Amino acid sequence: MMRWSERYDLHGHSTHSDGELSVAQLAQKIASEGVEVWALTDHDVISGWKEASEEAKQRDIRFIPGVEITCIPGLAAQKTILEKEGRDRSTTSWHLLAYFPNHDSNVNSQSISAFRKWLEPFAEGRIGRMKRMVEKVNALGMDIDFEAVMARSSGAVGRPHLAKEMIEKGYANSMQQVFDEWLGDGCPANVEKTKPTIVEAVNVIHAAGGICSLAHPIYYGIESNNLLSFIKSVGVDAVEAFHRSHPDKYRMELLNCAQKIGLKVTCGSDYHGPSYQARPGHMAVPSSYLPEQII
Ligand SMILES: [Zn+2]
Ligand SMILES: [Zn+2]
Repeated sequence: MMRWSERYDLHGHSTHSDGELSVAQLAQKIASEGVEVWALTDHDVISGWKEASEEAKQRDIRFIPGVEITCIPGLAAQKTILEKEGRDRSTTSWHLLAYFPNHDSNVNSQSISAFRKWLEPFAEGRIGRMKRMVEKVNALGMDIDFEAVMARSSGAVGRPHLAKEMIEKGYANSMQQVFDEWLGDGCPANVEKTKPTIVEAVNVIHAAGGICSLAHPIYYGIESNNLLSFIKSVGVDAVEAFHRSHPDKYRMELLNCAQKIGLKVTCGSDYHGPSYQARPGHMAVPSSYLPEQII
């Protein structure tokens, strides 16, 4: 018998990365939607853990420290699968969710310090990357100030912040134009992000006592059996079968496949704030298939 539960939401973002809500606002929202087990998974940073754990405690929520790590794709996308999912191209990265269910949320503790040091350059990489993109834009004759771009972001800076500055300075009319002509992948002012491989990330997570789950596989354009066999072979513990963007049929396909191969599953709303989605939580998952450290 499969026991379904909506208690868990193991994927979401605050202003520490590209979410709209502060950690406290997000915790409030999570509690009001009935979530009882919550993981904060900002992109490439763990700076929200301490506050999140305190906010969760006040609301009787179990907090699981997490982070969503941007990695190099482990396999090349298959055109036929992308077409089946109605996508014209795959993403340039795979996202790996890391969880530390037994960790006390102190980002400076002994057990997490090696992981934190390993992670830092990838988050800082966003700033270095932005510097280099601004230099490229300057070399193309546009008078854009790096500090002005940084002032537009409250957490993790990215291409949209630069694009908005370029539009305001009158160098382009729309985000679409900026990405098509200058900042899109392969365009003259774009700089590729530095990323770890999946294997490297898995090893560092495990060494720190954590577990990991491959986020939203629908974006990667790989047939489910191939994808899950691959991630199992490199030591990934689970797959995020129950992601907000997955149709029911795909959720069940991944669940069946994960069971066959011996992988766990996780669930996540990937909530970024009210302009993206009405609410976090409400992610039905058969709870006995979650990693045992999380159940
Ligand atoms: Zn993601
Ligand atoms: Zn996410």
